[in-house]
Amino acid sequence: MTEPSTQEPGDGTRAVRAGLPDPVKNEPTLPGPVFAAHFHLPGDVSGPYAYGRDENPTWTHLERAISELEAPGSSGVETLAFASGMAAISAVLFSQLRAGDVVVLPADGYQVFPLVREQLTAYGIEVRTAPTGGDAQLDVLDGARLLWLETPSNPGLDVCDIRRLADAAHARGALVAVDNTLATPLGQRPLELGADFAVASGTKQLTGHGDVLLGYVACADAELIASVKRWRKIVGAIPGPMEAWLAHRSLATLELRAERQSANALAVARALLARAGVSGVRHPGLPDDPSHGVAAGQMRRFGCVVAFELPSRAQAERFLDALTLVDDATSFGGVRSTAERRGRWGGDAVAEGFIRFSAGAENTEDLVADVLRALDEARDL
Ligand SMILES: *Cc1c(COP(=O)(O)O)cnc(C)c1O
Repeated sequence: MTEPSTQEPGDGTRAVRAGLPDPVKNEPTLPGPVFAAHFHLPGDVSGPYAYGRDENPTWTHLERAISELEAPGSSGVETLAFASGMAAISAVLFSQLRAGDVVVLPADGYQVFPLVREQLTAYGIEVRTAPTGGDAQLDVLDGARLLWLETPSNPGLDVCDIRRLADAAHARGALVAVDNTLATPLGQRPLELGADFAVASGTKQLTGHGDVLLGYVACADAELIASVKRWRKIVGAIPGPMEAWLAHRSLATLELRAERQSANALAVARALLARAGVSGVRHPGLPDDPSHGVAAGQMRRFGCVVAFELPSRAQAERFLDALTLVDDATSFGGVRSTAERRGRWGGDAVAEGFIRFSAGAENTEDLVADVLRALDEARDL
């Protein structure tokens, strides 16, 4: 007789099964998208599904799946899906903060933060900022209501110690939210590290195919998540059922994608380190990276993004032109590698030759060869 296995299922096993309902004879394993603005509702209002801005069964399956990945084995975590990462981020900020509150934001976070900051300030909320690396958040926490962390940060790839900062914030009565976009729940689990909210854009590696905009908020506190849900209802920043379904379908391959893409990112980073003319190579998985120590303590995979600098804007543009397996495109996390000269947007404090590179799921040798060949072609003649 074989003993039933007591072993925890691995990430791949959890990813392929996450959020699936109990099997029903003659029904698909993952139920198809439910397109409904309203649901049949005779008599008194009861049951979960009444109106499509409040609840949708396709969201429910996806939200359960994300909860299972963000906090395996914990039954109290609830996730809410949103129309985009920014919808999820705004939902936490604007549902939790009131006029007179203080919020600490990353100084080097996602490029929309300066706009967010303006809006928060316009509502009478005091915004303080601190860079992601170096623990400077500790100096500005007094009196704060919310500490916002983005680790690894985009695009600089600095990392902060979530547990340490969450403990310090909680000791001062502040809530903690972590943007988990770059790591994905298979790379890092902020709720287990002490955060109150794990927030992310599902547009990036979570869904991984560059065809869906999505966001989510996961939280273990029933009152807090209820206030975020109230905000979603008021603002209506809800995902379409098709997007939610596509996202859930894509989760099944998250572990496969994350494994290959992390390995590719590390291989590209190593190859770049060995090249003259390439500077500032950053990837939290590199043993000598300034972020590696903290990252290794809290991350299970180091993500698919590599940052580096070429000596000039012109050389960076020639490099991007010369790549054949890597699309010149913004965003990151997709199965097809992308790269861009980040300075073209303005806003990020980066050099003209700064490249954000997102490793896809190509074969490692092919990707590294393409990068090295494009570097050769881009060199000054
Ligand atoms: C892309 C991104 C967002 C915004 O997500 P959208 O889905 O584009 O709204 C937020 N945070 C980080 C770290 C991101 O990379």
